[in-house]
Amino acid sequence: MNQYMEETNQALVHTYNQFPIVLEKGEGVYLFDTDGKKYLDFAAGYAVSSLGYGNQELNDALKSQIDQIFHTSNLYYNTTCGKAAEDLKRITGMDRIFFTNSGGEAVEGTLKAARKYAYKKGTGRCEFIAMKESFHGRSMGALSVTGHSPYREPFEPLVPGVSFAEYNDLDSVKALVTDKTCAIILEPLQGEGGINLATEEFMKGIRKLCDDEGILMICDEVQCGMGRTGSMFAWQAYGIKPDLMSMAKAIGSGIPVGAFAMTDQVAESSLEPGDHGTTYGGNPLACMAVSKTIEIFEREKLAEHAKEVGTYLAEKLDVLVDEYDCVTARKGTGLMQGIQITKPVSKVTNAALKEGLLIIGAGEDIIRFVPPLVIEKEHVDEMIEKLKKVL
Ligand SMILES: *Cc1c(COP(=O)(O)O)cnc(C)c1O
Repeated sequence: MNQYMEETNQALVHTYNQFPIVLEKGEGVYLFDTDGKKYLDFAAGYAVSSLGYGNQELNDALKSQIDQIFHTSNLYYNTTCGKAAEDLKRITGMDRIFFTNSGGEAVEGTLKAARKYAYKKGTGRCEFIAMKESFHGRSMGALSVTGHSPYREPFEPLVPGVSFAEYNDLDSVKALVTDKTCAIILEPLQGEGGINLATEEFMKGIRKLCDDEGILMICDEVQCGMGRTGSMFAWQAYGIKPDLMSMAKAIGSGIPVGAFAMTDQVAESSLEPGDHGTTYGGNPLACMAVSKTIEIFEREKLAEHAKEVGTYLAEKLDVLVDEYDCVTARKGTGLMQGIQITKPVSKVTNAALKEGLLIIGAGEDIIRFVPPLVIEKEHVDEMIEKLKKVL
């Protein structure tokens, strides 16, 4: 522990278990600490830095936006917000966008929009069904639909009327539906909960259940969205469409920005002026980050690239499952995958750090791989070599 880390520990509220390195700069898919040590990044700052580090095109766009203007508030229109909303409409296929500053706020917004929809329709529907082991954020509303009780317990009582179903078990969802159910919220690929991928049967079943019962379907794409699973948003691979969705993490390549989106059908009887707002949301810097990120994603076909390199990563991880007794399964898809291990996760991630590899855990016993989407097969090989030494 060096002096900088000690000072930081003295100054911050102790909410993070931080790895004992101090990062200073990034280049491509590598990060460098203050001692000049190089790390291969398979964490991307929690699935955020999908373009890697030092993307000159993105950096130039952000710098010129800073020189132009970077805050206006939503009292006025600005020149970047409408464009970013159009860009998000195009890649999501949704009709209306609301910009937030984080993923938790995006989830929060979907819950409020769903409640307002029921209120305006006069249905009296005010309850939510969420999934066990889900993660939706730390604010009181988002925490209320997060299906991991250690996160929730210290902060109870939370928003009432939330029940939790088994992920990928449609009957367990059906069993919780009542005439008070307002919306069902789920991640198409659970991240924090341990890299659990929804089956096609489950996603289609929830869509049908929602249609039959007059319930809204909310997909939380904060982690699995933005090309990571091989389609721009994970739900798009299932042949269904949610009524509401949240996104954040990679959509601004690290500039703090999130958004939620809804269909016209929801928008027509949901949030109105005065119902919801944010001082920073939709600010020019964040919106420039979104538009530039989307432009680069589309031109470089990064979702397809994630699928291709993800297939290669899956092959290599499957070999580890065969070769190592301590590796018991591979999970996930595209560039959001994990391996289940019998060794303590923190021991493996800390040993990887020494080898110059950044990886993180998920759930109880999963090592998660969420690299920048610009990685190539050679980086997968390099990661596997380092990981083998650790295992
Ligand atoms: C990270 C995450 C959130 C919360 O996002 P913040 O930006 O940390 O508020 C919400 N949902 C999912 C699925 C996430 O992975």
